[in-house]
Amino acid sequence: MKLAERMSRIGTESAFEVLARARALEAQGKSIIHLEIGQPDFPTPLHVKEAGKRAIDEGWTGYGPTAGFPEFRDAIADYISRTRNITVSGSNVCVVPGGKPIMYFLMTALLEAGDEVIYPNPGFPIYESLVDFLGAVRVPMPLIEERGFSFDLDVLERSLSPKTKLVILNSPGNPTGGVIPKADLKRIADMLRGRDVVILSDEIYSRIYYEEEPESITQFEGMLEKTVILDGFSKTYSMTGWRLGYGVMPQWLATAVERLMVNSNSCTASFTQRAGLAALQGPQDCVDQMVTEFRRRRDAIVAGLNGIPGFRCSTPAGAFYAFPNVTGTGLSSKALEDLLMTEAGVSCLSGSAFGSYGDGYLRFSYANSLENIEEALTRIRKVSSRWAK
Ligand code: PLP
Repeated sequence: MKLAERMSRIGTESAFEVLARARALEAQGKSIIHLEIGQPDFPTPLHVKEAGKRAIDEGWTGYGPTAGFPEFRDAIADYISRTRNITVSGSNVCVVPGGKPIMYFLMTALLEAGDEVIYPNPGFPIYESLVDFLGAVRVPMPLIEERGFSFDLDVLERSLSPKTKLVILNSPGNPTGGVIPKADLKRIADMLRGRDVVILSDEIYSRIYYEEEPESITQFEGMLEKTVILDGFSKTYSMTGWRLGYGVMPQWLATAVERLMVNSNSCTASFTQRAGLAALQGPQDCVDQMVTEFRRRRDAIVAGLNGIPGFRCSTPAGAFYAFPNVTGTGLSSKALEDLLMTEAGVSCLSGSAFGSYGDGYLRFSYANSLENIEEALTRIRKVSSRWAK
């Protein structure tokens, strides 16, 4: 008996594999500093946890409506309308278990074999994995370090074809921390306005930024009608394990995503939606405090990485990743990832895990304490004699 052929085409998210390797080394007694996994190291805010617990006690433990509870969908629509300066309603919202399922459902609903998908590279590995899985065609868009890890817009324009069906944007971005400038978004909107394409705007890091507030392409004329906003609770409210996210999209796509939900998850857990409602409607100082702390760590890790021979790290404008260029070490990213894990006890990810244009970079998640970040930098500096002449 064999698996279906399509399973040979699906990729993975190597952060989980590297984490498993790090844990195995820890089990053997080795000290490892975890800078690989992309989840905030803060607890879920107290009022959100309390709302979740209360919801269980109150009996929010049965099936709910497939696309989410109406009150919750309305609250999300209100939040998105307010923060993106657009007007959407609860019927545009599909609540799903985490942000990731929006990628899976949308791309499954939309893509036929041979359809072209433009996506950022280096980028979240699941974009590329799903393009391959569905038999669509990869059109990777290199992110340019000198442009704060945004696209070269001329390359984007030349890459559009009659077969382009989906364009994926991610700002603030994983793994680079880059934020797409408003002027770029406007030009992208101008390019896409007259085309029959859908945009997936992955805005999961929308609240984690250090300079100007990230903008959504949906604010530009004609874009709301062709865009799916992906957002959720994992990063903003430190709720990765609750599995709670959503997509905001035109009605015809919402209907398709709902159909795929019926055929898979049935619905998102009911009590987590109550916790999500409390997160949206409760005090927001927990988010501000988290971002303030991330900023301190960002400044420390960027300064520290720039002091390591062969490393050059630009300052990320959002998310919680540093993405240094390590070509100056003369080692491949993968070799460095291995060396740092085994020799320094620092777990990070090779940029190549995010696509071929990520080669020559490493990704460090600074969702760890300042103390651990300083210790990791000390350890890396110590082993840097291995490549520094
Ligand atoms: N989009 C990006 C760019 C991410 O980095 C992640 C998680 O790492 C997600 C989406 C998925 O988030 P969730 O854990 O809510 O599924």
